[in-house]
Amino acid sequence: LALPDTSSGWRLYQPSIEDALQKRIRLHEALRGALDNHEFFLVYQPKIELRSGRIIGAEALLRWVHPQLGFVSPVDFIPMAEASGDILRIGDWVIERAIRQLEEWLAARQVANDFHLAVNVSVQQLTRPDFARNLLQRLLRSRLPAGALEVEVTESGLMQNVDLARTQLQLLSRHSVSVAIDDFGTGHSSLAYLKTLPVSVLKIDRAFVSNMDTEPQDRRLAETVIDMARNFGCITVAEGVEKPEQAEMLMDMGCELAQGYWYSPPLKVEQFVEFCAAREQIAC
Ligand code: C2E
Ligand code: MG
Ligand code: MG
Ligand code: MG
Repeated sequence: LALPDTSSGWRLYQPSIEDALQKRIRLHEALRGALDNHEFFLVYQPKIELRSGRIIGAEALLRWVHPQLGFVSPVDFIPMAEASGDILRIGDWVIERAIRQLEEWLAARQVANDFHLAVNVSVQQLTRPDFARNLLQRLLRSRLPAGALEVEVTESGLMQNVDLARTQLQLLSRHSVSVAIDDFGTGHSSLAYLKTLPVSVLKIDRAFVSNMDTEPQDRRLAETVIDMARNFGCITVAEGVEKPEQAEMLMDMGCELAQGYWYSPPLKVEQFVEFCAAREQIAC
């Protein structure tokens, strides 16, 4: 508790609710200008095929560094952008940037021909009636091979408006854009709904992966997700693999792909290209 000391004229500083609110307001204002001030960039986390150790793709993740506020985590600013509606413009930028990057990598032969790039898409974007059409039109204008782009939607986002989401996802999947459900296992989706969605990838949430080598219950949950994915005709990606023991277990369970610090954190473009070059030499 702050104790005002009138005699000496100083008092203990205590961050108040007002301070926290002030900070959020500043963050909101800063976020509004971030796109026009070119403060965003993408980083890329490799996706590894467990069985071969090959890099088969990457996930694009958004980064924001503000000149005064410094690095702000997407965990903090994405929900703000979703609440304000800014996520629509930001999301368009992410898709545009990701497509251009992939075109560059393919043209320079820095990634394999079957490499695919996944972008995260918020439910606000996905439930726009023209979302899929715009994305497909943009893809047509690019020289990317069919299937080069994947969209990741969180399980909880998807469940907020299954019917609108389904319409968009169906159009995307009919044109070879694959759909992944992100953070799977945390969003209480019903199996009845899942069955009706054109999903090809389930991403096992990091929460289950981080403790699977020590917690038998988490291990069983991961195994359940992998079995379920197989029954749905989906492949599984494990998020947040940090130890070789986890990778080993996941492979034994039949999980196909993995991402995590054990392989690589998300990387800036130059580092990502170096990582691919070094890794391909090892794999040969
Ligand atoms: P996500 O899509 O589930 O991404 C995985 C998060 O786990 C990323 O955090 C990644 O950096 C982190 N991660 C990867 N491997 C490991 C690991 O081995 N250990 C640990 N502890 N963490 C690991 P990041 O980049 O902070 O992103 C957080 C979330 O923000 C993402 O979760 C996604 O939901 C959202 N996000 C990021 N970029 C975008 C974007 O462009 N659009 C939208 N709509 N959401 C985004
Ligand atoms: Mg994701
Ligand atoms: Mg995730
Ligand atoms: Mg997550």
